[in-house]
Amino acid sequence: MANKSALQLRFLSDINFEIALRYAKVPDRPAALPRPGAIKFLGLPRRIRKLETRVHPVYTNELPQQQAPYKLDAGEGARYVFGNQLATNIAAPSQLKQDAGGWLLTGAKGAGFPLHRHARTHEALFVIAGAVNLGLAGESFLLTPGDYVNIPPGTQHSYEFLDHHGKLLSWTFGGNAADAYGALGTRYAGTIYSEESEWIDWSRLDDCVDTEVLAASAAAPTYSPKLTSAPRGMLAFVLASGEGERMIAGDQLYTILGNQTHSSGVFISLLTEGPIGPAIPKHQHEKVTELFHCLNGRMKMFAGDRYVTLEPGDFLHVPPRTPHSFQLTKHDTRFLGFITPGHFEPFFRYLCEPFKGHRYPLIPPAFRFDRVIQHLAELDLTLLERPAGPPPQFAAAATKD
Ligand code: FE
Repeated sequence: MANKSALQLRFLSDINFEIALRYAKVPDRPAALPRPGAIKFLGLPRRIRKLETRVHPVYTNELPQQQAPYKLDAGEGARYVFGNQLATNIAAPSQLKQDAGGWLLTGAKGAGFPLHRHARTHEALFVIAGAVNLGLAGESFLLTPGDYVNIPPGTQHSYEFLDHHGKLLSWTFGGNAADAYGALGTRYAGTIYSEESEWIDWSRLDDCVDTEVLAASAAAPTYSPKLTSAPRGMLAFVLASGEGERMIAGDQLYTILGNQTHSSGVFISLLTEGPIGPAIPKHQHEKVTELFHCLNGRMKMFAGDRYVTLEPGDFLHVPPRTPHSFQLTKHDTRFLGFITPGHFEPFFRYLCEPFKGHRYPLIPPAFRFDRVIQHLAELDLTLLERPAGPPPQFAAAATKD
């Protein structure tokens, strides 16, 4: 019976592909999209969800004033200087349609943000470059590139750059804490921080911004160890570079840094790495926004109405109902993705197998897109192209019954 339903699901998903290919080949025939609810086939359970595709042009090196796809080259965004720090805004509520923001923070050796907390805002930090002294819930951590920090609302934290090339990526959700950089700083034409040290008026963070600066407490005398696996739940933690829940899909390694339990489902964050490989099929999501940061190598991505190339430091915002795909076009490409809301996490568990290694393997296991297809109905995923064929063992099982 299981095999029969697998076969049926495969068949039904084939219809889905036919519909997608016939009507939703974006951007070739955007005018031919089906009317919502207009599709019925042979009395079969309707698996074609309302297919609304936004064929927005991809903005480049500007923050659109609407929820549209856009790509920012490394260093682009709205830049603010405060003291000898530079904060670059790469996403704000206008684009994200929620109280959230993405910022890149760089600063001179010794620059930082004093002890503070956010009442409502959940923050996640990822170290792009340099060494950073992090204060977190009364402990100190020596952050180095690739480390990931989960900071639930109410958690006291601080950072200090320990060399001249530090760079932190900060994503915030659920509150306006990220407005702090605009409140403290002024727009800045420069592309690196100013070495002219300037006094920072922290009192500018008034009650309107969800960032409360706290009296400094004595720094912890020693650095605490960074974790090799994240705890479950809305807890503050520091995950060391390369650690986290690892899974394999074909020749690509997926590492979940932040799962749904860490933010009560608001967002997940994960790393993907692999060699040169084929593109994943074009697809879109109904509610999910995906935020791509290329860290290493090179990616070719489809988004909205065209292909774009992402190199290290580049960022791509893909809002809901925007066709997209990615392809790794250099060996050892690695990218960091934030996905909000976090309910898309099961997709990766269907696609991947648990994996003990820390780098992608020489001999990859089978790519389990067949399992994704079996669970399409429960995923916020509409495939716009037929994925590569199922692994041979699935095809054999599906035709037995
Ligand atoms: Fe996606």
